[in-house]
Amino acid sequence: MKEIAEINNKWGGWSSNNTFHSVYHELGHAVYREKCAMNSEISEKIVDLYSKKYYNIIGNNQWTKNINANSIKWISNAKKENFSYYGLRNENEFVAEAIAQYFCSDNPSDISKEVVKILLGE
Ligand SMILES: [Zn+2]
Repeated sequence: MKEIAEINNKWGGWSSNNTFHSVYHELGHAVYREKCAMNSEISEKIVDLYSKKYYNIIGNNQWTKNINANSIKWISNAKKENFSYYGLRNENEFVAEAIAQYFCSDNPSDISKEVVKILLGE
């Protein structure tokens, strides 16, 4: 698990290189279902933050799992924000990657901190 996390963090796909990244990522999906499905105020704030960060990193383009000249640029943009490219796939992955980074990284991004604040209702 450590090796997989390190490989995925290195290319920019995952937001941390921690052994337990994938465990916290899946926990993040459970938190997303619980918090965003149950609370429209939280859900709207997450969508707003996601949309803003998506636009900053990917612009008006469509996220893709394919590696090409565009996605290489977007991966680099995501790294500059200290966040993962995979976390921009949709709101659900955004929350999952933010939770994983918040708990697994010594240096979580501003994105992760903002997501956790929203989820806590702050
Ligand atoms: Zn996921």
